[in-house]
Amino acid sequence: MIERLAILGVGLIGGSLALALKQAGRVGRVVGYGRGRANLDEALALGVIDEIAASPEAAVAGADRVLLAMPVGAMAATFVRIAPHLADHALVTDAGSTKQDVIAAARAGLGARIARFVPGHPIAGAEKSGAAAASGDLYVGRNVILTPLPENAPDDVAAIADLWRACGAQIAEMSPVEHDLIFAAVSHLPHLAAFALVDELAGRPEAELFFRHAGSGFRDFTRIAGSSPAMWRDIALANRQALVAELDAYLSRLSAYRDALAAGDADTLMQSFSRASQARSRWHGNNTENDE
Ligand code: NAD
Repeated sequence: MIERLAILGVGLIGGSLALALKQAGRVGRVVGYGRGRANLDEALALGVIDEIAASPEAAVAGADRVLLAMPVGAMAATFVRIAPHLADHALVTDAGSTKQDVIAAARAGLGARIARFVPGHPIAGAEKSGAAAASGDLYVGRNVILTPLPENAPDDVAAIADLWRACGAQIAEMSPVEHDLIFAAVSHLPHLAAFALVDELAGRPEAELFFRHAGSGFRDFTRIAGSSPAMWRDIALANRQALVAELDAYLSRLSAYRDALAAGDADTLMQSFSRASQARSRWHGNNTENDE
């Protein structure tokens, strides 16, 4: 049982954790801190949080568990602010979509308290933002990745794993480097591709006509281009080394398609499309839909 949970960044991800723990009867009081007053008022009215804190320092005072769930670019300053105000027994975790940058920020900000920080990333989400989009069921059946630090005590990692399991999630562990490489390929690159396509078309004089006739293929490919721009700016920049490498690989594949098209090379297109279609079917057949 968590007596007092501090959520820093009460949006889709932080709000959903609060609701899920409340539904599971695993939390006493949830204190929220965020940047937008209207969003916090809504979170309070919806029962996502029980109290609005005036500052991150006030939010973490006396908290047993602290979740950072703001855009990853805002986490460094937050670690610095909360460090002196954490209770001795407090455990801190995060939901950031990138791990190496968040861990570096935590080391710099938390200093000697770094052992009490267990990094995490729920592989659940949506293109919606804010506390109003939060759902107590968001994590049911989803993976949460933990990238524990060498300094973490096994009991502390187990306590954070337990928190997510109480929300219906299952836990996977990996290194922060492996995490950032994998998610550059399967999450960050697709978001970039979707943003780029929509921005490219939206900038054309005939954009309205094009969008009016766009169908389900366009809708499915571009759904994630409706995601929070600030959040994805932060993710892309934080993981830019891995993301640039993935972008190069994708550009080279697109360039091969371009050459095959220009040459009327049906065989090359057919082989690649067939491999992709089979791989996609296998993935979809095996997968519990990791929605980020
Ligand atoms: P969101 O926009 O719904 O919520 C983020 C909240 O953080 C907002 O309410 C915003 O006002 C607040 N915020 C911004 N700057 C802040 C600051 N300096 N201090 C305190 N609060 C601040 O976004 P979200 O989807 O809940 O994402 C939150 C985190 O979870 C991000 O780090 C993101 O990378 C990660 N994440 C997102 C998804 C997803 O699909 N949306 C999935 C997994 C992880």
